[in-house]
Amino acid sequence: KNTGGGRCTWFDPIMDQIADADARLAADLRQAIARDELFLLYQPIVELPHGRLAGVEALIRWRHPTHGLVSPGVFIPLAERNGYIVELGRWVLREAVRQAREWELAYGDAAPEKVSVNISARQLREPGFPAEVAELLRTSGLTPHRLVAEVTETAVLGTGESLDAVRALHALGLRIALDDFGTGQSSLSLLVDCPVKVLKVDKSFVDGVTGASAQAVIVDGLIGITEGLKIEAVAEGVETADQAYRLHKMGYRFAQGFHFARPMPGADIALLLDVVPASRKVDNLH
Ligand code: C2E
Ligand code: MG
Ligand code: MG
Ligand code: MG
Repeated sequence: KNTGGGRCTWFDPIMDQIADADARLAADLRQAIARDELFLLYQPIVELPHGRLAGVEALIRWRHPTHGLVSPGVFIPLAERNGYIVELGRWVLREAVRQAREWELAYGDAAPEKVSVNISARQLREPGFPAEVAELLRTSGLTPHRLVAEVTETAVLGTGESLDAVRALHALGLRIALDDFGTGQSSLSLLVDCPVKVLKVDKSFVDGVTGASAQAVIVDGLIGITEGLKIEAVAEGVETADQAYRLHKMGYRFAQGFHFARPMPGADIALLLDVVPASRKVDNLH
């Protein structure tokens, strides 16, 4: 009341502290690329029911010098708010394409067929983005359809430019995946207007798949839509054998989740490929 009434002055310092911590983390993030603190993990996307590797999703990690591992759930939204996501996204794409091309050269047909990269709304709106991707494909030599652009419904519906960008990526030969399907501003017309190749059904729906829930009905219904539209459906966040079994029975061909594999370094993905290691081939000659 001494400050003039109607104000909660104790609240402001806390908000200030949060803003300060945010600003410090954002400043640190701007140094992260140069300081080599960022790296990618790859989570297998598998075929049901046997679990054969069908592809991988690149997921960014940040090893902060004092806070340790910071979750992308924290720093990606931060980078989206201050625009740094454009720079960060560029690094992710370059690193994932480098890794994908390395696998392609080393393992040929046995390499992961698809490498998915998350593309944020802000990146899609960046005018030169498709041209950058085209240049990256050209210089790396990566077969374009090995690269999957994961975008969210909300990102694509954001502006007309976003949909144009998605169409341009598709024209380059990339596959387009709709990520976290069902949680955004879901609009079935997006499946008509947007050249979608893969639909990733969000974990929040998959969680309920073994019960008699509304989620289970929706997950079951989506398979009919995707089959009719010749879209691949991937179930996200599969954590149990029960869920995997139910999804398989519903007709799902692809799944991703801790039940099958956690995100892992690229070197560990190579161990899952259906190839005879070069050292063993040499052994066989003797
Ligand atoms: P997302 O694209 O939907 O990625 C899937 C997230 O679910 C990953 O979390 C993955 O580790 C987690 N996950 C996979 N299987 C399971 C499971 O069975 N159970 C549970 N509880 N979680 C599972 P992560 O790596 O923490 O990433 C979170 C989100 O951050 C991603 O969600 C994506 O939206 C964003 N993100 C991550 N890397 C990038 C990136 O390089 N660029 C952009 N723009 N966003 C990224
Ligand atoms: Mg994703
Ligand atoms: Mg997802
Ligand atoms: Mg998700």
